[in-house]
Amino acid sequence: MKLSSKKGKVQCIDGEILEKLSLKTRNKFLNYNLMSFLDPKYSNFLKQVQKFFENFEKTNKITHNEDFYEWIPEIGKNGYISRLHKFEDIGLNYEPHGMTSEFMRILAMDFFDPQLTMATGATAISVNPILLHNEDVDIRLRALKELVTGEKIGCICITEPERGSDAVHMQTTCEEQEDGSFLVNGEKIYQTNGSKADWAVVYAVTEKNNGNTMAQFLVDTSWDGWTAERVNIPWTPRMHVSKENLVNLKVPPECVLGKPGEGMSHLFEGLNLERLSIVCLNIAEAWNAIAHAVIYANMRKQFNKEIFKYQGVGFTLSNLWAQTTSMTLATLNVCQMIDDKMEQLGTLPKEFNLALGTTASQLKLLSAKLSERVVYECANLMGGAGVCDNTLMHDLLGISRLQEIGGGTRQVQSHILSSALRNIFKQL
Ligand SMILES: Cc1cc2nc3c(=O)[nH]c(=O)nc-3n(C[C@H](O)[C@H](O)[C@H](O)COP(=O)(O)OP(=O)(O)OC[C@H]3O[C@@H](n4cnc5c(N)ncnc54)[C@H](O)[C@@H]3O)c2cc1C
Repeated sequence: MKLSSKKGKVQCIDGEILEKLSLKTRNKFLNYNLMSFLDPKYSNFLKQVQKFFENFEKTNKITHNEDFYEWIPEIGKNGYISRLHKFEDIGLNYEPHGMTSEFMRILAMDFFDPQLTMATGATAISVNPILLHNEDVDIRLRALKELVTGEKIGCICITEPERGSDAVHMQTTCEEQEDGSFLVNGEKIYQTNGSKADWAVVYAVTEKNNGNTMAQFLVDTSWDGWTAERVNIPWTPRMHVSKENLVNLKVPPECVLGKPGEGMSHLFEGLNLERLSIVCLNIAEAWNAIAHAVIYANMRKQFNKEIFKYQGVGFTLSNLWAQTTSMTLATLNVCQMIDDKMEQLGTLPKEFNLALGTTASQLKLLSAKLSERVVYECANLMGGAGVCDNTLMHDLLGISRLQEIGGGTRQVQSHILSSALRNIFKQL
């Protein structure tokens, strides 16, 4: 039997089915679904990233039980950490790039390894503020290049033990020194990659609870005053999520990405695209689960028939498939609108970006819920095979349960949407 895309301790699934659940076949399933909608520029890119991961898995005999952080340099060297930008500022020339390309990158990487994809997302998000505010400063460009090319790992530090959803009223303080540096003091928590990160983007305020005094810093985690402890999140055992203690952490002037007063707008400026990246991740997880369940149900026999032929299985899968396809098409449409605007104008117009905030929240709300339900139902349709450790279904089950929390909870998205609806009413 050839290696499957995941190897558990005890083989529970029939060898022939396990072989068919390979990365290659699941990728093929995804491609059949997407090819008629995608511009060749993107379908070719999707296939290119898929091929990379198929080869990577085979060459390195990957079982998906490994420490995936060790794979990052190789992935980065090949240009698959972030595709949101061209990255000309650091001498790269990524083509294709943009929101649709990022969606393709996330799909291909998620089919290979969902936990790796979520962790890489945190590095990709930390790249955005450094890119936007690099101002040609050497250390910022170095951090940017190291993160994008996978030499180093990044994290973003917003959440605190006492300030989660209420991120604006931070407790972590920063105090300006005579030489223009800042001393940062406080605690952060639930940072994806925190204890593995080499570079961090940290937010702090000069006055506790006053978001208008917020600043944004680039931090080298080897500096004195930074310590990070890993938090145990049992649903994603291979991903590092951490709690950081910042004690008189000295940030030099060249690492001040946003002075006090600029931090809050810096925090919000990239939020729409970051939230949309999470939407892409949610959709990728749903497709990955559907690919597993469709293959499995078409091969597994009970009562002398493939279980797919029982309406309880086939119709349930059809329903999950319809919902996931619809969510994919909606997201592709939004990605394309963003890419068109960026190509025509080089930036997103203010009015468009404002409307996009609502759209990103709508998609985040629905896709997180969808991903959790689709993954659970697919695992359920696979019986014991869906919950044992022989396939990536187990990883998908864990990770899809986190998606309603990170990147703004379900209630926070609903809160944003109800405010937006109220504003529309006021304009009638
Ligand atoms: C796996 C994982 C990765 C993460 N990665 C990062 C990261 O990289 N960087 C980072 O900075 N943070 C990260 N976070 C933190 C994440 O953004 C927060 O967990 C989230 O914002 C919620 O904050 P909290 O956990 O303190 O919950 P709380 O804010 O305490 O919320 C608890 C509950 O109360 C509800 N609630 C809160 N306020 C309201 C309200 N006004 N109306 C209605 N309901 C409300 C929430 O929806 C939730 O259900 C991560 C979290 C997880 C779980």
